[in-house]
Amino acid sequence: MGIRRGKELLESLDDGREVWLDGERVTDLVGDQRLSGAAHTMAELYDMQHQNDLVDKMTFTSPSTGDRVGLSYIEPKSIDDLKRRREMVRIWMEATCGFFGRSPDFMNIHTTGFASAQEVFGASGEKFGQNIRAYYEHARENDVSMTHTLVNPQVDRSQPVESQPKDLAAKIVKETDEGIVIKGARMVATLAVYANDLMVMPSNYLQNSEDAMPYAFGFNVPVNTQGLRVICRPSTVHRDPGSWLDNPLSSRFDETDAMIIFDNVLVPWERVFIHRDPEMCNGIFMRTQAMPQIMHQFCTKNLAKAEFMMALAFTMVRSTNIDKFQHVQEKLTELITFVEFVRSCLIASEAQAVQTPFGTVAPHDMPLWTVRMMFPKMFVRMCEIIQLLGAGGLAGVPSYAEFAGPRREDIETYYQAANSDSRSRVKLFRLAYDAAVSSFSGRQQLYERFYTGDPVRLSGTLYNLYSKDEHVDRITTMLDDLESRVNDHLSTPPFLPVQE
Ligand SMILES: Cc1cc2nc3c(=O)[nH]c(=O)nc-3n(C[C@H](O)[C@H](O)[C@H](O)COP(=O)(O)OP(=O)(O)OC[C@H]3O[C@@H](n4cnc5c(N)ncnc54)[C@H](O)[C@@H]3O)c2cc1C
Repeated sequence: MGIRRGKELLESLDDGREVWLDGERVTDLVGDQRLSGAAHTMAELYDMQHQNDLVDKMTFTSPSTGDRVGLSYIEPKSIDDLKRRREMVRIWMEATCGFFGRSPDFMNIHTTGFASAQEVFGASGEKFGQNIRAYYEHARENDVSMTHTLVNPQVDRSQPVESQPKDLAAKIVKETDEGIVIKGARMVATLAVYANDLMVMPSNYLQNSEDAMPYAFGFNVPVNTQGLRVICRPSTVHRDPGSWLDNPLSSRFDETDAMIIFDNVLVPWERVFIHRDPEMCNGIFMRTQAMPQIMHQFCTKNLAKAEFMMALAFTMVRSTNIDKFQHVQEKLTELITFVEFVRSCLIASEAQAVQTPFGTVAPHDMPLWTVRMMFPKMFVRMCEIIQLLGAGGLAGVPSYAEFAGPRREDIETYYQAANSDSRSRVKLFRLAYDAAVSSFSGRQQLYERFYTGDPVRLSGTLYNLYSKDEHVDRITTMLDDLESRVNDHLSTPPFLPVQE
């Protein structure tokens, strides 16, 4: 089969899935005003893979069928493969200005990383390794849209999952000849509404105890599986906009977030990757070395997002000539440094790529970790800079619909700027409002803060990962050297004699 078209994707979502939004079940998600914008964005992304000028950049030939399949499924064997994959991700991310973080390439790369390391899963039973490999090949050959959910509901974060006062987290309640039965919830799955399949993997640390075992699993199920419910947060899409140009980002890129409820969901054995195995769960992203591959994807997203925010700021300041002011230039320079920082880290991660034990090549993790830790603050600051530059202009722009209304002359006259006619000014400032002020922007800021994990605990992980001994040795060696020199020249400064 290979790459699908947008139409095929949209048809595949009409599969009887149980999606709940604003207190009602959504039966026609492509036709629903709150969901159709992002559905069509998904379709556009799928169609791009077929475009004559993009097909070679976005796909490769399947090693098993010879069909064209998405490049995000490539198992990189060289730095060149990493660069090709980055180019594929860049094309989707630029099309969505970096605001559609969970476009399918995210999970494709994630799943590929796991499949390349199938022996890690196979350590507790060969079939688990075979299952992840077979699932990867199925997803690659059928261009499956995937989402994932890692985190248990927030009940009592001071207690491990097996000791929660209210037992809400998804757990294995039964094994049958057909598979495992799951009951309970997982807290967030972005894109679930637009995904065919749901990957359910571990992320929170689990105790290696009998009580923790029911929570120690990894599997994948179709979103329309009997008993699986998707409960969405309210949409950020404006329900009744005067003009589509008023909310150009939120109307297209609200990828949705949802809680997933498993009401005795049967997962067939062939889709189970980890079974009652806390040790396998803990650190699975590191041991498989899937993490650097995933970080490579989201840092490419970050670059597209930073470039978009910088471009937006450049355009805004020109319209009213505020780029003449030094503090404005300072803010614009801040945006430039964000862009160039992320770009440099991406290039560095590729230049220092490492061979994995699984026969693949992974980008070097440290430059990507650095972006992972710094980007949340950068993105929040980017939004702040857009607000500081746009000021009251962001609050004062009317709907683009006014150009078709009785006050058209007023609007054409009074919304001009020095270097911009009214239409351009209104379009631009509505775009800036959507990017930096709207509820869509608030959700984007929340996303950047947390989607890759809790920044506090991530800092701890990075600190513990980072190789520190040679740095401590450097300081102690320097002090020892100075001490010995001082002891040799007790009353004089400890400089070495100048050599003849
Ligand atoms: C917009 C958005 C989209 C997301 N999409 C997805 C998705 O598609 N798939 C997915 O799997 N996940 C997704 N996530 C979830 C994301 O992985 C989590 O938000 C993240 O891992 C943090 O976990 P938490 O939200 O449970 O926060 P909590 O763990 O509940 O933390 C809340 C606060 O308590 C503190 N805290 C809690 N426990 C501890 C502790 N043990 N030590 C120190 N401090 C602690 C934290 O520092 C934080 O300040 C998404 C999140 C957001 C916001």
